[in-house]
Amino acid sequence: MTHLGTLYILSAPSGAGKTSLVRALLAEDQQVRVSVSHTTRAMRVGEVEGQDYNFVSHDEFNAMIEAGQFLEFADVFGNKYGTSQAWVIEQLKQGVDVILEIDWQGAAQVRHLMPEAVCIFILPPSRDTLLQRLNARGQDSAEVIAGRMAEAVSEMSHYPEFDYLIVNDDFATALRDLQSVFVAQRLRQSSQQVRYASLLTELLS
Ligand code: GDP
Ligand code: ADP
Ligand code: 5GP
Repeated sequence: MTHLGTLYILSAPSGAGKTSLVRALLAEDQQVRVSVSHTTRAMRVGEVEGQDYNFVSHDEFNAMIEAGQFLEFADVFGNKYGTSQAWVIEQLKQGVDVILEIDWQGAAQVRHLMPEAVCIFILPPSRDTLLQRLNARGQDSAEVIAGRMAEAVSEMSHYPEFDYLIVNDDFATALRDLQSVFVAQRLRQSSQQVRYASLLTELLS
């Protein structure tokens, strides 16, 4: 498959800060969009249907699996999450870069289909900080937070499968690190060759 846009996969244990980092990145970068996943988990206070997630029932999710509508899907913390294939492919065809905020299982599925995807893993500066952030976010019950902390180590053990590792200690530093990956990717010779085709023709004639 030849696409014009670049696909980025961002994974992290819950609470490491990927949603906050992606939001800050998008605020300054017009060339990239984030895929809105489908999920069977309950909507959190403050979340918006179609913006944070497309919230669906288990039956609706299963019907989408049957219809082959997912690029990837996975069970995470007892809920199902999936990425819409049609939307992602359409964006990439139009030359738009796309970010998938997905877990390591989904990342493995997408990497298999699209090995050219750029994979980034976000780590918290410590386990204590991860727990503090999950608590401070104030969105999940103590039981849900305990479950996510229990999964964090197994999620983090998948870091070697990713191209880039970013430690989200100081937020501004982590954001700059993330932006640097996007800048470097756009400077790759293969991308620059397309972007500067007429300049290269002129320089080499
Ligand atoms: P948060 O990451 O703590 O904000 O928690 P969420 O409930 O938003 O996400 C739960 C988990 O599901 C995370 O590990 C996400 O990376 C993962 N996830 C979210 N959307 C998708 C998706 O479309 N596909 C897959 N495979 N995983 C997803
Ligand atoms: P994720 O999407 O990975 O679950 P969030 O982006 O929701 O994580 O971040 C979890 C919580 O931690 C949020 O309340 C967020 O404001 C906070 N947070 C994120 N990054 C930092 C940071 N570098 N320093 C302090 N707090 C942070
Ligand atoms: P939350 O429920 O806190 O929003 O997300 C929990 C986890 O689900 C996060 O680690 C997030 O990356 C993952 N996740 C969200 N959407 C998807 C998705 O579409 N596919 C996969 N595989 N994981 C997802």
